[in-house]
Amino acid sequence: MPTSSPPLGLNPAQQQVLAGLMAAGETRPEFDPMLPARLVDLLEDRLAETAGRLGGDGIDITAAKTMLGQVHQCERWFLAEQREGFTWSPKTAAGTVAHKAIELSVFCRDAPAPMDLVDRAVERLIDAGGSWGPREYLSGWAEAEVADLRSDACDRVTKFLECFPPLKPQWRPVLESRTTVQLCDGRITLKGKVDLALGRRDGNRATVLLVDFKSGAAHRSHVDDLRYYALLDTIRSGVPPFRVASYYLDSARWHHEDVDEDLLEAAAHRVVEGVIKLVELTVDKRPPTMTAGTACAYCPERNDCDGARQWADQRAALGLDA
Ligand code: SF4
Repeated sequence: MPTSSPPLGLNPAQQQVLAGLMAAGETRPEFDPMLPARLVDLLEDRLAETAGRLGGDGIDITAAKTMLGQVHQCERWFLAEQREGFTWSPKTAAGTVAHKAIELSVFCRDAPAPMDLVDRAVERLIDAGGSWGPREYLSGWAEAEVADLRSDACDRVTKFLECFPPLKPQWRPVLESRTTVQLCDGRITLKGKVDLALGRRDGNRATVLLVDFKSGAAHRSHVDDLRYYALLDTIRSGVPPFRVASYYLDSARWHHEDVDEDLLEAAAHRVVEGVIKLVELTVDKRPPTMTAGTACAYCPERNDCDGARQWADQRAALGLDA
């Protein structure tokens, strides 16, 4: 992470990111080395009874950011999404291509233009083996559809390159970094993948910035996502990140929180409450509750659910679009 004067040639947006988001030159806090152990104790103590109901017949629970967000927002929505499973859409495919292209922009040594980065990303994703990825989804597309995707992804990559300072190797940039935390003898697994980690680790001093790139508008759930990443990174690495941030590519703005013990404990309690709900709903088969909210707009249940109608009525009463 930068600690001295900015490199020459940065545009105003890049300088803002360097000074405001990366907090170049500012002192980083130190944390108690026992903090990660205390967080694990908190999680395992509160999850012990729930974990005791797992483990038989190979039943265990893997929780991730999206699942926790859904189950906290509306349990019925969570179960509907579980039933439907993940399906690719032009938006998710463009997002995956853009993320891959941004990753390549950091590590390709020949400084390709955004369009070349997108082409390389599409090639990498189509060539990649394994079952996950948009390879099969994209293989059935017409040329014009692929062109739309390339245009969308190129827009996002260009915005990143225009607004983020070029990432120096000494900042130790890591993209799409996955973290796994196992609790309660492996019966409960927490998974996460953060878009960008920046900073060289330094003893008990918090030196790492975690950034999630967003192509849409800000949402309250983004704060919870960031805290979840901070919790996993703290337990995995033994030291918290100093800051977590959502960076909005369309507006070149960000929301950040500086990490402290209260934030991490709040994240741990939210994980506990989410995992308990996941087990109750998927293992114990408890009927879900229903909570109308922003998810009603795209929930698979929206045509058959009273919550969607309630949400539409609330918005209409406030004079907002349904
Ligand atoms: S339509 Fe709304 S209230 Fe109903 S299940 Fe979906 S998110 Fe929940």
